[in-house]
Amino acid sequence: MKALILNETGQAQELIDDLDIDLPQEHEVLVRTCACGICHSDLHFRQGKWTSFPLPLVLGHECSGVVEKVGSQVRYLQPGDHVVGCLTPFCGECENCLQGRPNICIGGGLQRAEGGRPRLSRKGKPVSQFVNLSGFSEMMLVHERALVKIDRDIPMDVAAIMGCAITTGMGAVFNTAKVRPGETVAVIGCGGIGLSVIQAARITGAGRIIAVDRSPLKAEAAKAYGATDAVIADGNEVAAIVEMTKGGVDHAFEAVGLAATAEAAFNTTKVGGVATIVGLLPQGEKVSVDSTMLTFDRRVQGSSMGSNRFRVDIPRYMKMYESGLLKVDEMISAHIGLSEVDAALVALDHSDGVTRSVAMFS
Ligand SMILES: [Zn+2]
Ligand SMILES: [Zn+2]
Repeated sequence: MKALILNETGQAQELIDDLDIDLPQEHEVLVRTCACGICHSDLHFRQGKWTSFPLPLVLGHECSGVVEKVGSQVRYLQPGDHVVGCLTPFCGECENCLQGRPNICIGGGLQRAEGGRPRLSRKGKPVSQFVNLSGFSEMMLVHERALVKIDRDIPMDVAAIMGCAITTGMGAVFNTAKVRPGETVAVIGCGGIGLSVIQAARITGAGRIIAVDRSPLKAEAAKAYGATDAVIADGNEVAAIVEMTKGGVDHAFEAVGLAATAEAAFNTTKVGGVATIVGLLPQGEKVSVDSTMLTFDRRVQGSSMGSNRFRVDIPRYMKMYESGLLKVDEMISAHIGLSEVDAALVALDHSDGVTRSVAMFS
């Protein structure tokens, strides 16, 4: 089958038509991919800023599709079901899962045993699966607990975006930071995740919502999603935000994936404020904060995929989409083919105005 394969970091992914996929084992599901969003996290791995998977590797993690075949023990899904994949599968039995935090499941058993038959292979050699999904491929073979069932009338491009950008951004507001009505919010980075943070802040009834981006176009465009103010990240943005809020914001969100923007987010918080780091920083990156600022009850926290419980969250987000509360169609700026994915991924680093490209499979 057709797929995009990463043979070497820093090089273009190769479009191939001979990727082999195994049949589903007990708890696995074979999914025909319909759409896969182009997310910045894929770029980190293509560039080698993250190296946690052996090569060759098939990237792609913001995906939707239709169930083709299910393993003998799968009860939740059947062939024909429409699904969204999520990169945080859960075991349902570990300490974190049982405390309602399946996004940081520590149970394991969701991948195949090492040395056994691989899910993906090419010419008889194993190919790594990216975050249990590998969406840049015509088919995906995943654990059933990496999938959520969705209504069949939801467009597949919208469904795909729910899997990462929406879940990560909205979840950071609702689940991780728990923003309350009236609180002030600053969002650094107005790409797909930043716009999802902004929308969740609007839906939750936040007071002032300040969109920050180095692109004036993107910062201004964020107003259509609920931002009340646009600030250009020109080096003066922290001072500008502290000034306009008379002391800083209740909640700052970092949605770029850089140490400098994480530090800027923390520096915009008021006394007692919280900075939530949503973007994926390069592996091992250090973030430094001023200890004097920290003393005054400020906090900085991570948010893993929006602290999601995706089988609960995504159906709720779908309802918000259907009612018009959550704008998703507007966030999709281009539909592309698999052959255009690599260029679209590389272009993310210097895009201006483009929000989300989605690869569509016919
Ligand atoms: Zn992503
Ligand atoms: Zn678990």
